[in-house]
Amino acid sequence: MACTGRKQAMPYARWTVAMDRIIWTSYYAGNTVIEIALVLDRSEAAIVSRLRVLKAVGGPRPEDEMPAPTLRKCLCCLRPFQSEGWHNRLCHSCKNGAAFS
Ligand SMILES: [Zn+2]
Repeated sequence: MACTGRKQAMPYARWTVAMDRIIWTSYYAGNTVIEIALVLDRSEAAIVSRLRVLKAVGGPRPEDEMPAPTLRKCLCCLRPFQSEGWHNRLCHSCKNGAAFS
């Protein structure tokens, strides 16, 4: 049986926070589900069901899915350092320093 409809690059790929944000902001910017589906290369049904989930939880999660390396201020010494993600709030010297040993 042949597959009908538009071929999708990743029909069953999991939703990322970035995709959630696109759905959420596009939807509230007045874009239709069809337009969002085209942008994300998903089916309309997938967008509708994802929107339902997002509405239930109050929108896309913040930065919490993938810890993204970023420059943050150390909570201890206030110096900027390369943080491994939202969970990483102390620079290496503070984490390994006397206060936390
Ligand atoms: Zn520090």
